[in-house]
Amino acid sequence: MLIAGNWKMHCAAPPKARELAGGVAEVASEPGVQVAVCPPFTGLSAAAEALDGSPVHLGAQNMHAESEGAFTGEVPAGALRALDCRYVILGHSERRQYYGETDEAVAEKAEKALASELVPIVCVGESLSEREAGRAQEVVGRQVETALGGLSLGDPSRLVVAYEPIWAIGTGESAAPEQAQEMHAFVRETLEGQHGEAVGGAVQLLYGGSMKPHNAEALLSQPDLDGGLIGSASLEAGSFAEIVAVAEEVAA
Ligand code: PEP
Repeated sequence: MLIAGNWKMHCAAPPKARELAGGVAEVASEPGVQVAVCPPFTGLSAAAEALDGSPVHLGAQNMHAESEGAFTGEVPAGALRALDCRYVILGHSERRQYYGETDEAVAEKAEKALASELVPIVCVGESLSEREAGRAQEVVGRQVETALGGLSLGDPSRLVVAYEPIWAIGTGESAAPEQAQEMHAFVRETLEGQHGEAVGGAVQLLYGGSMKPHNAEALLSQPDLDGGLIGSASLEAGSFAEIVAVAEEVAA
């Protein structure tokens, strides 16, 4: 089980990042659950200091596919490793929607992340209109095919996939547990087709979209859910720790 917090563009200043990461380090260390926080770039160093000696991992929210060069405003994978990041979120729907990130770009970044010894948390998910048109699996299947089909993956612990229906992100309305399970089983099957049953079957699949302490148990109890990517509920150490505690109970 993995519970990862996506802070988005919150707690970006070093003192705030240090405070929240320090709070998480104090309360969110259940033995059976991997925990990670993903601050904005500007908060990574301070968060790393606050997490020093704790089992909580650090992740970033994006990276560039090149190692260096004339790419104003971008950050390479090697620098994230140097800042102690284990994870990097790729292809979040906000990056796809606001910055035009494509599945092809996500594929390049995922390959570079693996080569740089980062674990990519690759986000996929359909919009409300796509779901209402009965196209959820078609859309998510295409995202998984394009973003992950070309990866050479021998070890399932090197990749995490997050199913995040766009209509559930930041809305307070999560997917129903059965809806999430149905999509996770589909993603699992697609990964098994791409990378073989042993590898595809063991990749951690996170659910993201308004997971909160009150709905975490029903979601995390589904057989193909291996954890959560948590947005707003990760911005307060107490509510994030409650979700980690639920994950621990479900995993036990
Ligand atoms: C997210 O943006 O990754 C997310 C899951 O946000 P929230 O939990 O706020 O819906």
